[in-house]
Amino acid sequence: MSEVSTETAELLIEKTSIGETINVHQSINSDDDRKINTQSDYLFKAQRWHALWVSNLIPLAGFIAGVVLAFYWGVGWLEVGMLFVMYFLTIMGVEVGFHRFFSHKSFEASKTLTVILGALGSMVAQGPVIYWCANHRRHHKHADKKGDPHSPHAEGNQRYGGLKGLWYAHVVWQMHSKTPNSAYFTKDLLKIPLVRWINKTYFLWLILGVLLPAAVGFLITWDYKGAVIGFIWGGLGRLFLVNHFTYTVTSVCHVVGKQPFKTTEHSRNNWFLSIPTFGQAWHNNHHAFPYSAVVNFKWWQIDLGGMMIRIFKGLGMASNLKIPPQEMIYRKQQ
Ligand SMILES: [Zn+2]
Ligand SMILES: [Zn+2]
Repeated sequence: MSEVSTETAELLIEKTSIGETINVHQSINSDDDRKINTQSDYLFKAQRWHALWVSNLIPLAGFIAGVVLAFYWGVGWLEVGMLFVMYFLTIMGVEVGFHRFFSHKSFEASKTLTVILGALGSMVAQGPVIYWCANHRRHHKHADKKGDPHSPHAEGNQRYGGLKGLWYAHVVWQMHSKTPNSAYFTKDLLKIPLVRWINKTYFLWLILGVLLPAAVGFLITWDYKGAVIGFIWGGLGRLFLVNHFTYTVTSVCHVVGKQPFKTTEHSRNNWFLSIPTFGQAWHNNHHAFPYSAVVNFKWWQIDLGGMMIRIFKGLGMASNLKIPPQEMIYRKQQ
């Protein structure tokens, strides 16, 4: 494929026939491919290893261990409490932190809140904050088209749609999609020393997210069983559940559900996933207004993420919430 800069390509589009214009567009895409992805084999291998073991297989083993433990030790308040508290904190970390704050800058946060959200978001094992944001910004820029890291549609992942596409968008993309070029997508974040520090200390937070509930479990019960329950229910098993509910946003919420807004991709709203995804299952609302700090535009739509951002604002830790005016929301509805 020949190298054609955007400017040259535009000149060619003016001068050529429709057929030749299509070729020029392909050249632009290939140029984009080099810009949006890193060419490092080492980074790609690291991404694959991390996605396979850290994000998926180890949490799956933890989930199975939790089911086995439930048979032997039953399910009491400690199991439910560990799972609920750690699930709430870490889904907030990834949805309010990695997604709305770091990726979309939908509000401003104090340094303390930045660290809290960065640390909690790292505990979901979906990669360091800058990698996560680069992938997510790439998703919005190329949503359901070539370049989208996790589209369930054939035109997006360049392979398959249907059920295979759904599985690709849920898990497979993490091992298959090229590593995003963070220098291109997250230049702003790379300039902030605090964000670079959160990025660098990723594994520390991730391990803490598993060991901390184990330590708390031990301190509450003063028994090794409490530590095991904390480790499995608040740690690894929780990781499996948080991740698979988060994955439904990239898979299910781009295939089934309602589309109140006319957007350029296939994003959909799904009420039944709205609570476990902390609001992100109002995904068509989100793609219509990606910068918005809240994703519920009707009184009956529950958005726990937006609710927490408002609480942080009340506590003086968050400010300048970006929320589209009602009139703008009304105009964009189909
Ligand atoms: Zn999306
Ligand atoms: Zn987004």
